[in-house]
Amino acid sequence: MDESTTVKSAAAQDVSLPHERLRQLRQSVDSGIVRPLAWRLAQLGGLLRFVDEQEEAMLEALKADLGRCRADARMADVSMVRAEIRLMQKNLRRWLRPRRVRTPLAAQPGRSWTQPEPFGLALILGTWNYPFQQILIPLAGALAAGNSAVMKLPESAPHSSTLMAAHLERYVDPEAVIVISGGPETASQLLELRFDKIFYTGSSRVGRIVMAAAAANLTPVTLELGGKNPVIVAEDAPIEITARRIAWGRFMNCGQLCVAPDCVLVPERLRIPLIEALGEAIVRFYGSDPQRSESYGRIVNATHFARLQQFLKEGRVVIGGQSDEKDRYIAPTVLTDIPDDATVLRDEIFGPILPVIGYDSLEQALSFVRSRPKPLQLHLFTKDRRLQHQVVNTMSAGTIVVNDSIVSQIVPDLPFGGVGDSGMGSFHGRYTFEAFSRPKAVLHRSFRADLDARYPPFTGMKDRI
Ligand code: NAD
Repeated sequence: MDESTTVKSAAAQDVSLPHERLRQLRQSVDSGIVRPLAWRLAQLGGLLRFVDEQEEAMLEALKADLGRCRADARMADVSMVRAEIRLMQKNLRRWLRPRRVRTPLAAQPGRSWTQPEPFGLALILGTWNYPFQQILIPLAGALAAGNSAVMKLPESAPHSSTLMAAHLERYVDPEAVIVISGGPETASQLLELRFDKIFYTGSSRVGRIVMAAAAANLTPVTLELGGKNPVIVAEDAPIEITARRIAWGRFMNCGQLCVAPDCVLVPERLRIPLIEALGEAIVRFYGSDPQRSESYGRIVNATHFARLQQFLKEGRVVIGGQSDEKDRYIAPTVLTDIPDDATVLRDEIFGPILPVIGYDSLEQALSFVRSRPKPLQLHLFTKDRRLQHQVVNTMSAGTIVVNDSIVSQIVPDLPFGGVGDSGMGSFHGRYTFEAFSRPKAVLHRSFRADLDARYPPFTGMKDRI
């Protein structure tokens, strides 16, 4: 058995749950040790130290799990996590302040306000494509909001998960955080327990299982799911830069990115010029043999490799198409001439394959998008202000990006989340804090001026109020 197989099976091994420690986490919530600002800031500081001290090991783990190059791994799984934690450190005191609201005359004298209240004990179920980002950012939000938290690590990123399982708890309060390895069986066992908040990242299929389990305890959920992320290219879009931005978003992390452009709709007369420009962008990014490029990643495992092979058969391959099972390599691929009922046009691709479809009218492209489940991210490339306005104001999607692709991820004040099949709730920036807390309503009345008019019996003058 080679080293990667050993690490994989260790990370996926289903374990019996540490029930005693789980009780401890509940006690930490009840005793209030997780509430003081100083405690919360100490946890954020600990997470930042984890990233600082383990950065090199994180980059190596991402290379082993996904073939990620250092620049990409550093940008998405290290720098982004750091930026999100720092933003919380900087703003937490302000976010915790009560917000005064108007108190009507009938409730005077009195004061009303909301204040953020932590849910209590949170469960975070992460996935493998950006494993550090998807565990550490929600964890930081949970702790900043004053919760204790259980993390179920993603079994399909075994090197990254093993690193977090071995070290993460040392950097935070072990009475408030538990890191658990294991696969779907472990996740199912956890979902049978009562949590006060569940934050799930992964497929829409499992999202339904998570939500059904949460319903048993009426536990609120945030579901960060996947789906199609269509791209509409309009007549007037500058082809070269459009192709470059689409190819960058589609082929980063070997296409295993939840917001990656998943299907391109382009005016039929521009279909071939766009495909040619995509080809040029791919060569510019990864050379003529992407398998030898340090900047190009690998498919996470054999199951996903096999799943993607099916898509390759569903259209005419015009760019790429090569694959090497032993190396989990699939070339950046562009497909066209795809039948309407093909699964590649229906299911999320989550790999380095890009269907390009020609359309005759813009209305046809818009109804293609409308007739399918709501996207996590919708892209539009055009200079036409009227069209930009029309799409932003009439189309539904988690995020709409005009004239770019995945760059939306780095805008910290934008909430990131889906709608319909692509999820519910959001995170990033302040929204991560809000995902793990609720605005508690407080009305504070005075004992003065106790008007008799509100009390029964409602007779005489009172009956006429
Ligand atoms: P996965 O198989 O790793 O599953 C995610 C988590 O669910 C894991 O912890 C796993 O153990 C658990 N799980 C799997 N099957 C389960 C079951 N039957 N019952 C209970 N728990 C179970 O991940 P995946 O589904 O392959 O992830 C890829 C998907 O995640 C894609 O659809 C992608 O778009 C989506 N994604 C979304 C976001 C986002 O922020 N919206 C980010 C990354 C990935």
